[in-house]
Amino acid sequence: MKVRLALAAIGAVLALASVGYAAGSTGSPFYGDPPDDHHPWAIHDQNRPQPKLVTPGTFSMQEQPGKPPSDAIILFDGKDLSKWEADKPGNVPTKWVVKDGAMECTPGSGYIRTKDQFGDCQLHVEWAAPKDVKGDSQGRGNSGIFPMGAFEVQVLDNFNNPTYADGFAGSVYGTNPPAANPLNPPGQWQVVDIVLRRPIYKVDKCLDPGYVTVFINGVLVQDHTPFEGGGGHMKRTKAGPFPDKGPLKFQDHGNPVRFRNVWYRELPLRAVEGGTDGALSTEATAAKRKEIAATVRQDAAKLKDPANPLPETLRLLESLVYEKDEPTLQKAQQMAEQYFAAVKTLPADKLGAKKDDVKRLNAALQYLTKFTILPATFPPKVAVETFVKAQGWDKK
Ligand code: MG
Repeated sequence: MKVRLALAAIGAVLALASVGYAAGSTGSPFYGDPPDDHHPWAIHDQNRPQPKLVTPGTFSMQEQPGKPPSDAIILFDGKDLSKWEADKPGNVPTKWVVKDGAMECTPGSGYIRTKDQFGDCQLHVEWAAPKDVKGDSQGRGNSGIFPMGAFEVQVLDNFNNPTYADGFAGSVYGTNPPAANPLNPPGQWQVVDIVLRRPIYKVDKCLDPGYVTVFINGVLVQDHTPFEGGGGHMKRTKAGPFPDKGPLKFQDHGNPVRFRNVWYRELPLRAVEGGTDGALSTEATAAKRKEIAATVRQDAAKLKDPANPLPETLRLLESLVYEKDEPTLQKAQQMAEQYFAAVKTLPADKLGAKKDDVKRLNAALQYLTKFTILPATFPPKVAVETFVKAQGWDKK
C-alpha cells in the first residue's frame, strides 16, 4: 500500500517534472567510450575539468613587445631588474642594465639569473643582437637562454654568420642544431618560445626523459628534442637525473645582447608526477576513477527529489561508469525501477510528456549494458527497453 501511494505521488509530479540538461552546455553523459584501465575519463566526458580560462596576449612587433597572456608570470616587463640577480653565490646585484625597455648584457659582468626558480614551463623571451656587427661565428651577438640554468638554447647572431650547426641560434647547444634559421637581421628583435619538460627520475630510474620544443619567430626549430644530459661546450653529456626547479639564466658571452618581454607559464603535472592528463598507470587510473565516481555520487545526492527521482537516478548510474560500487548499483536499480513503475501508471494523455525522460533512461541503460558495465539482463534495462519499443519511441 505504501509503495502504491508513493508511486502515485511520484506519478502525479512526474506529469509536470522533467529531467533538465542545461541546453547547449551538457549533453548526455552516456555518450563516448567509457573509462578504461589507463584513461579515467570517458571519451567526450562532461565530468572532465574544463580548460582554465586564459586571456591571450598579443604578438610581438619590432617596435614594441607583445603582451603576455593573463596567467603568465612576468620576469621582465621592460622597467627594472627587481626579479633578477647576478649568477653568483649569495644575492649579488647584477651589473646588466635596463635601456629603452630592454635589459642589456654588460660584457664581463657574468651571467644573470632570476630569483624565481621553476621547472616545466612555457617560456617566452625576445632578444636582439647588437645592430653594429662585430666578430663572426660564435663571437657575434652571442648570449644564451638557460631554462632552469640547466642547458642552453643558443642566442647568436646567425644572420649571414655561419658557425657549427649545434651552436646555431635555437640549438640545444652542443646537442641538437635548430631545424631552421629564421633569424631577423641584427638589431631587430627575435621572438623565442620554449616548451620545457624536464627529465623526471625516481632515484636512477628514468620515468620521463624530458623534452624541449622551441620556436623562433614562429618557426619550429626544436621539435620535442630529448636532453641527452643538457649538452655543453666540447663535451658530450649523458642523460641523467635533473633538478625539479632552477632559475632562468641569460649568458654573458661578451656581447651586449638585449632581452625584453620575458615571462613564463607553469605547465600541468605529467602522469608520472601525479598529473591526470593523457594515459595513466592502471593504479593511478583506478584511483582517479574512484575519485570521479565519489564526486558524481555527491552531486547525485544534491539532485535528490522524491517527486522527481530521475535526475538523481541518472547521475547514480553515471557514477557506475567510473566505479562499480555495489550499494550505488542497488540504489540506482531500485530508483530506476520505482521511477519506471510510476511512469507506467500514468494515463495515456500524460505519458507522452515523459517520452524524452524515459528515452534518456533507456539510453543510459543501453550504454551501461553495451559497455558491459551492467549485465545485459539488468532488469530495469530489459523493462525500459521493452516499454520504449512497445510505445514505438525507439523509431526516429
Ligand atoms: Mg651562448
